[in-house]
Amino acid sequence: MAGKARWDRLSSASVAPNGKRSILVVEDERAIGESIQFVLRREGFDVELAANLRDARERLAEKDLVIMDLMLPDGSGFDLLREVRASTDTPVIVVTSRDEESDRVAGLESGADDYVTKPFSPREIVARVRAVLRRAGRGQAGETRPSDPGAGAGGALEIRQDERRVSYLGSAIDLTRAEFDLLATLHSGRGRVFSRQQLIEAIWGHGHVVGDRTIDGHVKAVRRKLAEAGAPESLLSTVRGVGYRLEE
Ligand code: CA
Repeated sequence: MAGKARWDRLSSASVAPNGKRSILVVEDERAIGESIQFVLRREGFDVELAANLRDARERLAEKDLVIMDLMLPDGSGFDLLREVRASTDTPVIVVTSRDEESDRVAGLESGADDYVTKPFSPREIVARVRAVLRRAGRGQAGETRPSDPGAGAGGALEIRQDERRVSYLGSAIDLTRAEFDLLATLHSGRGRVFSRQQLIEAIWGHGHVVGDRTIDGHVKAVRRKLAEAGAPESLLSTVRGVGYRLEE
């Protein structure tokens, strides 16, 4: 690995022309970093590479998205993730080397928007990047967007925050306070996985001691009520070992 630290300098791009979304890839394995750069450039993104935390910090400004490996030569990607979260709303996709549940959970709890597990296909990384940018309202210029945001099962679900009312295809669903907050949280990040801890914090706030089983119980109740209103079972899915997701 020696001598690789500066390789990224050579392959970094200049300022993106108008309309191009700018992505920072933090990855110390050169072959992986370059393959991500290649597929994303082919899709019209501007992609810069950083091989360690120090380079990444220098290049973070003005990025539309960050893709980061967690194991870096000068520290943990978690540190960078926390810094990004503390100062910007730039979406972050975490890359984990193994199919490690603990990494994924920790990644999501540190504020990652999504994660991919190595090895991943070019198609997968492009799909994740597009989905995360779209959710963050940073879709690529000229990218086709769903013309009707109400399309699909997720769109049939209507949540009125101000009135604390929920309906599915027009029929009202009666939820408890916790159930409403749970569903509203999942709905606010449709397509994104929320860990149980994130849901607990969204519902009861920081420092509240609630067991994971409590969340599971509320999810079960929300699912039953959604099903009674005619929603497909797949609308609120379990991501094994990670948490829950409301499909887009
Ligand atoms: Ca690494």
